[in-house]
Amino acid sequence: MTTDSTSKNEILFARAQQSTPGGVNSPVRAFRSVGGTPRFITRAEGPYFWDADGKRYIDYIGSWGPAIVGHAHPQVIKAVQAAAANGLSFGAPTEGEIEIAEEICRLLPSIEQVRLVSSGTEATMSALRLARGATGRDKIVKFEGCYHGHADSLLVKAGSGLLTFGNPTSAGVPEDFVKHTLVLDYNNIPQLEDAFASMGDTIACVIVEPVAGNMNLIRATPEFLQRMRELCTEYGTVLIFDEVMCGFRVGLGGAQELYGITPDLTALGKVIGGGLPVAAFGGRADLMQKMAPIGPVYQAGTLSGNPVAVAAGMSTLKLIQEPGFYERLGAAAQRLVDGLTEAATEAGIPFCGDAVGGMFGFYFNHDIPSTYGQMMAGDKERFNRFFHGMLDEGVYFAPAMFEAGFVSAQHTDAVIDETVEAARRVFKRIG
Ligand code: PMP
Repeated sequence: MTTDSTSKNEILFARAQQSTPGGVNSPVRAFRSVGGTPRFITRAEGPYFWDADGKRYIDYIGSWGPAIVGHAHPQVIKAVQAAAANGLSFGAPTEGEIEIAEEICRLLPSIEQVRLVSSGTEATMSALRLARGATGRDKIVKFEGCYHGHADSLLVKAGSGLLTFGNPTSAGVPEDFVKHTLVLDYNNIPQLEDAFASMGDTIACVIVEPVAGNMNLIRATPEFLQRMRELCTEYGTVLIFDEVMCGFRVGLGGAQELYGITPDLTALGKVIGGGLPVAAFGGRADLMQKMAPIGPVYQAGTLSGNPVAVAAGMSTLKLIQEPGFYERLGAAAQRLVDGLTEAATEAGIPFCGDAVGGMFGFYFNHDIPSTYGQMMAGDKERFNRFFHGMLDEGVYFAPAMFEAGFVSAQHTDAVIDETVEAARRVFKRIG
């Protein structure tokens, strides 16, 4: 291994900062929260990726969710190559778009109709516009710590990269936009009831990550989501589940199946593109029928339903339906969390973890958090030392305490056990 000063990562990072703000195209990649030099990735396969110095890492980000079948899965690559050979983009409809739409509707029964877009941000932004267009109301409710992409009206105390920088909001978002966004505490039922009691008739939609993955991993309580569903129904408010991260991740039917709650609209992304840009929003047909070209709510995209991206998504959706897929994925995440917890406890470090399907969180706290505030109380300095210790050992966790982690179907017991052994060494060093 080369030292930092001669590292190719170091050289690339210095060069990147000349042409791109902060040297990255999405903030969390810059390692601002943990310090140090981001790794520039050259290739990935199965549970691993390699950086510019040729160092191998066990990857627990999986492109922040999409790489659920493992990197460069041969079937996905083959599907992409076949699609690419027929042309990259047509700006006209294709049969592949019908197939993936039908598959999504079949797998998530709450989705009667779906519209494909290219990013999770577009999916949530469009779902909001539809909710507002359908109800004729302006107000929206979101929850502190949930991240729904970077649309203006959602960048209100949003999570993810913003949390990392400690900014409650982004510059450049007009006050006039965010005055319609009410930010409530996650898992706080009385507060939600108060909000509806005082202004329920003016709330267009409630948008929620039913399993939150942008304030580390935090589960919604079943009661919280159930009460949300009841209130939305009572007040004619559209309930939007943002399953961009947890959809096809916590189980084949997403969080909505796990909790047995039917949202009016769902935003999807990540897994449905299998590593290429596909996202979607969909739900009740009477709502979706309000979309252009047949309804008054406008939305469009040059690359929406792109044939190469759809091919990657469709082949991924096939692979996740293989028998036992989610059982294995869930067992891998649980094995990791259990192993890490045991190793930390041996070293006398306050630590706990949680996993939902193929998503996991670990916390340098005594108890598993259920709100943003509790999550923020974790020992960030110790997390940062742990992160760098693991990076040295060749294990790549999310470079911020505020992010969930992901396993793929290629994270075998041997890969997990190798990770836990590395963690045992690191916990001893940082204990
Ligand atoms: N919603 C959730 C729950 C997300 O986790 C993300 C991205 N991490 C988004 C929306 C935005 O998706 P994208 O980055 O594709 O715009």
